[in-house]
Amino acid sequence: MAIVLEGRPVARAILEEARDDLTAYVTQTGRLPELGVVLAGADRSALAYLRAIRRTFRRVGIPLRELALPADVSEPTLRAAAAELNRDPAVSGVLVLQPLPHHLPPGIASELVDPAKDVDGITATSAGRLALGLPTMPPSTPAGGMAILEHYGLPIAGRTAVVVGRSPVVGLPMALLLLAANATVTICHRGTADLAAATRRADILVAAAGRPGLITPEMVKPGATVIDFGVNVVDDQLVGDVEPAVAEVAGALTPVPGGTGAVTNAILVRHTLRAAWSALRAPHPSSVSAPNR
Ligand code: ADP
Repeated sequence: MAIVLEGRPVARAILEEARDDLTAYVTQTGRLPELGVVLAGADRSALAYLRAIRRTFRRVGIPLRELALPADVSEPTLRAAAAELNRDPAVSGVLVLQPLPHHLPPGIASELVDPAKDVDGITATSAGRLALGLPTMPPSTPAGGMAILEHYGLPIAGRTAVVVGRSPVVGLPMALLLLAANATVTICHRGTADLAAATRRADILVAAAGRPGLITPEMVKPGATVIDFGVNVVDDQLVGDVEPAVAEVAGALTPVPGGTGAVTNAILVRHTLRAAWSALRAPHPSSVSAPNR
């Protein structure tokens, strides 16, 4: 049976480190960092995510600055709300909860956030820096997947990794992170001709397709490490993209729930602190006084 890669111990370790980091930050600056959160409307999954974020940030002691906007918010009002958080030097990171209401232009979330405060790696600047192999804050979900691999000491360099799914928030950035860690990476998607042939080659198999039961035991190389990012509700139960029977073939497997999902918010805490420290080194333009002449 596969080793179960529980997310909670990984999250706990990240949050413990974050508490020390927060103490150092408060000692040096005399203030707390804050995470700005933009919520428009009341989408169920956005609200569930917000509740989880509140819980995690409260555990560490980092306050949230929540801007809740109505579901019919206009694009200019939404932009103004985000700009207010971007401008405010007390706000270290900005998170836009998705999905945004459908009347807003697709992709607008990525334009709302100052890249210096982009704790969830959604801006074109963050995505571009990730693609270029430059230091950046990657999206928190795949960053959490990498943290799991690291925490359990699972080797990446030189391994064959196969990522199923190419979404900009999970599959694609996960593929880039694995590539940066020197895996040989294949990305599969809806157009892949023979998915099973590809996945069977994987030493590290990543499921990020949003399809319950997509990955069956026959598709998995014996002993492989399987990372399941699937978040699917089936008969009121949360299930991943990987069939439970895969545990009989895989060497290690993240459970759903309690796997990758348990780490995402801890990464957001880490990124908020990282953005706070960076802002000290390069003060936000609006907080810099004009030079004396
Ligand atoms: P997520 O946010 O979990 O990444 P998305 O719905 O945004 O989910 O993206 C789904 C991704 O999964 C797409 O890249 C799509 O091509 C891929 N995908 C969906 N179904 C399949 C499938 N049956 N086989 C391979 N890839 C799939």
